[in-house]
Amino acid sequence: MIRKIVFYPDPVLRQMGEEITEVTSEIRELADDMVETMYDAHGVGLAAQQVGEALQLAVVDVSHDEECVSYVRVNGEETTLAEICPLVFINPKVEPLGKKEADQEGCLSFPDIRSDILRSGEVKATVETLDGETLVIETDGLFARAIQHEVDHLFGKLFIDRMSSVRKMALKKQLKEMRDSYA
Ligand code: ZN
Repeated sequence: MIRKIVFYPDPVLRQMGEEITEVTSEIRELADDMVETMYDAHGVGLAAQQVGEALQLAVVDVSHDEECVSYVRVNGEETTLAEICPLVFINPKVEPLGKKEADQEGCLSFPDIRSDILRSGEVKATVETLDGETLVIETDGLFARAIQHEVDHLFGKLFIDRMSSVRKMALKKQLKEMRDSYA
C-alpha cells in the first residue's frame, strides 16, 4: 500500500526514531509499504518518519545505476547494488569515512528543493535486517550518500540542517512558504 509522504515542517520529521526490538507483522507491512511508496515517488530512499512513524526503519534503492558506486561490501564480501537493493534496515549505526564531498540531494519531504550537501564520501554502516541478521555495509558514491541521508532522518535530522548558511538563506522564502502552507 502506498502511504502518504509527510512534508516539512511536520513535527514527526524531528522525532528521534524508536529502536525496533521486535519485528512484528505491522513492521513488515510498514517496510513493504515504504518500498512501494519510495518507488511510486521515484525516490532512492525513505525513512519511517517520512510516512509518519518515528521508528528506526528505512529503505534505500540506488540499483538503477550500478555505476553510482565504486564498491559495495557486505560483511566483508564484494557484492552488487542489484543484490542488496532494495535495502530495508533497522537500528543503524553509521561510521562516516573518507573525505567530505558536496553533491546534489533531494528529499521526498521537500518536493521542490534540491541542494548541494556536504557528506562523507564513504560509509561503514552496521544495520539489522527484518530477519534479525546484522549487515556491515561498506560503500561510497550515491549509496553512501543515501544511507547517510536516511539515517539522519531516523534521528530527526534533515538535509536543511546540513546546508551551508548561504544556501539556507537562499531557500528562506521557500521554506517559509512550506511552513505557512502546513496545516
Ligand atoms: Zn529525506
